[in-house]
Amino acid sequence: MQSGVQVPYHRPSIGDEEIDEVVRTLKSGWLTTGPRTAQFEQEFGAYADVPHALAVNSCTSGLHLALAALNIGPGMEVITTPLTFCATVNTIIHTGATPVLADVGPDGNIDPASIQSRITGKTRAIVPVHFAGLPCDMDAIWFLARRHGLDVIEDCAHAAGAFYKGGHAGAASPLTGEHSAASVFSFYAVKNLTTGEGGMVLTHDQELASRMKILSLHGISKNAWNRYSDRGHWGYEVLESGYKYNMSDIQASIGIHQLRKLEGFIETRTRFVELYNSLLADVEEVERPPEKPDCRHAWHLYTLRLNLERLAIGRDEFIEQLKDRGVGTSVHFIPIPLHPFFASRAKLRQNYCPRALDLYPRLISLPLFPAMTEDQVEYVAKAVTQIARKSRKQVWAAMAAAGD
Ligand SMILES: *Cc1c(COP(=O)(O)O)cnc(C)c1O
Repeated sequence: MQSGVQVPYHRPSIGDEEIDEVVRTLKSGWLTTGPRTAQFEQEFGAYADVPHALAVNSCTSGLHLALAALNIGPGMEVITTPLTFCATVNTIIHTGATPVLADVGPDGNIDPASIQSRITGKTRAIVPVHFAGLPCDMDAIWFLARRHGLDVIEDCAHAAGAFYKGGHAGAASPLTGEHSAASVFSFYAVKNLTTGEGGMVLTHDQELASRMKILSLHGISKNAWNRYSDRGHWGYEVLESGYKYNMSDIQASIGIHQLRKLEGFIETRTRFVELYNSLLADVEEVERPPEKPDCRHAWHLYTLRLNLERLAIGRDEFIEQLKDRGVGTSVHFIPIPLHPFFASRAKLRQNYCPRALDLYPRLISLPLFPAMTEDQVEYVAKAVTQIARKSRKQVWAAMAAAGD
C-alpha cells in the first residue's frame, strides 16, 4: 500500500487574477461592502439572469435572510430535504418555524410527491436543494407552491453553473417564466465558485430585494458605501432589527474572478466526470451518479453509490481503504434525522424518509475539482476498482469467475 496523499478530496483553484484583485482592494482603502461587492452582485445576477442579487457572508446567512424577509416564523412549517447540510434546516429553526422533511427520489433530490404528502394548513414554504449540482424537478415544485400558496427558496449551494431546462438554476424557467421567491448560492471554500466564505441571494422581487438588503446590514436604511458616495453624510436610520450578513470587498474581489472562470471550471468538472464514468462503467459493485437529460449538472460532487448487496464490506471500510491508497473522500450527507439535535425534534422524527436512509450508507463523494489532473482521476478510479473487485461478495465473485 502506498503512503501519503495521492489525491486530496479538494483543492481550490485560485489564480493570480484573484490574488492581484485582493491586493488592489487591500491597497484601495475600502475593505468592506463597496464597489467590488456591487460589481460582483451585478455580474453574478447577469450570469444567472436574475434581476436582483445581494452578496452575503455565507449561504447560511442568505437562507436565513430570505426566510426572515418573507416573514416566515413561529407557527409555520417549511418543507425541505433530509439529504442536505445542516444549515438548510438550522436556518428554518432560526426563524422559529418548524422544519418538515420530505423524502428524496432516486436522484437524491427532494421528491415532489413526498412534498405533497407533507403539506398541511401550516405549510408556508419549500426549500429544495439541488443535490450535488443536479437541479430538482422545479416545475413540479413550482406547481405545488402555486396551488398551495407557498414560497420557494432554492438552496443553490451546489448549483453554481447548473441549468434547469435552459435557465440557470435559481433563475426563472425560460419555458414557463415560473421562478422561486429567492435562490441562495454558497461560495464556501469547496464549492464550485469560492470567495473563501460567502454567498449570494437572487430574487426577481424588487421589494424582497430591498428588504433583504436592509436586513443584511443591521436593518439600517443605507450602507456605509452609500453614505460615502453621498459625500460622507452621516445620517442613517434603523428600520428593523436586522443582521450582520454583508459580504466584504475582499471576498468580492475573489468572486469577480472566480465567476469569470466558472464556465471553464464546469467544463473541466464535466470532463473528469465523463472519465470517472467510463473508467467505472464495468465495475458492478458501484453505481455512477444520476443525471437528467433536460438539465446541465454543475457537478459539484461526484457521489458514487456502492452496490452493498454485491460487496463484502460497507461504505466506511471502503472509505478507509481509499484513504490507505491516499485518496481523500467525503460523504454527502449524513441525513438530517440521524443528527442528535434534529432527532430530538418530534416533527423531524415523524417525517420518515426511507429512501434517504437507504441511500446514505451507500454514498461516497470522490475527489472532483478543476485543479486535479486526469492522472489523478485515473488513480482514484483504479483504487475504487481494486477495492470493489477484492471486496466482492463470494457469490458474485463465483458468478464472475464462471463467466457471468
Ligand atoms: C455548503 C452548503 C450550505 C452552506 O453554505 P455556507 O456558505 O457554508 O453557509 C448550505 N446548504 C448546502 C446544501 C451546502 O452544501
